[in-house]
Amino acid sequence: MTDTDTLSIAKRREAVLAELSDAATPPPVLVAVTKTQPEAAIADILATGQRVFGENRVQEAEARWAGCRGAYPDLELHLIGPLQTNKAEDAVRLFDVIETVDRPKLVDALVKAMAKVGRALPVLIQVNTGEEPQKAGVVPSDVQELLQYARSRGLEVQGLMCIPPVDEPAGPHFALLADLAKSLGLSVLSMGMSSDYVTAARFGSTHVRVGSALFGARI
Ligand SMILES: *Cc1c(COP(=O)(O)O)cnc(C)c1O
Repeated sequence: MTDTDTLSIAKRREAVLAELSDAATPPPVLVAVTKTQPEAAIADILATGQRVFGENRVQEAEARWAGCRGAYPDLELHLIGPLQTNKAEDAVRLFDVIETVDRPKLVDALVKAMAKVGRALPVLIQVNTGEEPQKAGVVPSDVQELLQYARSRGLEVQGLMCIPPVDEPAGPHFALLADLAKSLGLSVLSMGMSSDYVTAARFGSTHVRVGSALFGARI
């Protein structure tokens, strides 16, 4: 990376943080999505003081972050991609928050993995607000049942996460997620990506997951 690139990651982060502060008080936490980014970009964003990161694949995240805890004890890693039950144990060892719980089998796998590893992680339930057949997440009408099940198994469910359909305005999906969380007494709302983090902040997002607006387009 050249100095200009370094400057631009720091500058882009400043700009995103400023927009978030203008949109909501308190502003949502910026989760920097580092999937597929080169080492140099990671080094640059760590140098800005950014410590909260999102990754969507367990193995890629392990390769990148497993060795970083010593140097950065305040790292906070969020799993934001779909999780297969056979990767639950690896995920529990590496991550601090699992944002993508969407089925009872995954609840069971996480409960077992947390007991085995000796580490209890907070989780979010991923909601398929657009009820898209190909998309991960539980449909809105099934969230309460999954929440009750997860709690009955001892999982700490802090909130909800969504990825709105790409071809629709995001606002109504954020409003739906916010209403759902409120009705269930959940405080964490992971919503908003590069194209819509300001909208998400206005709808009460507590965590925005931003990749390309910080790093440029993914390669
Ligand atoms: C990749 C990804 C993001 C970040 O996307 P950008 O549009 O680059 O900000 C956010 N959330 C999830 C679940 C992702 O997979």
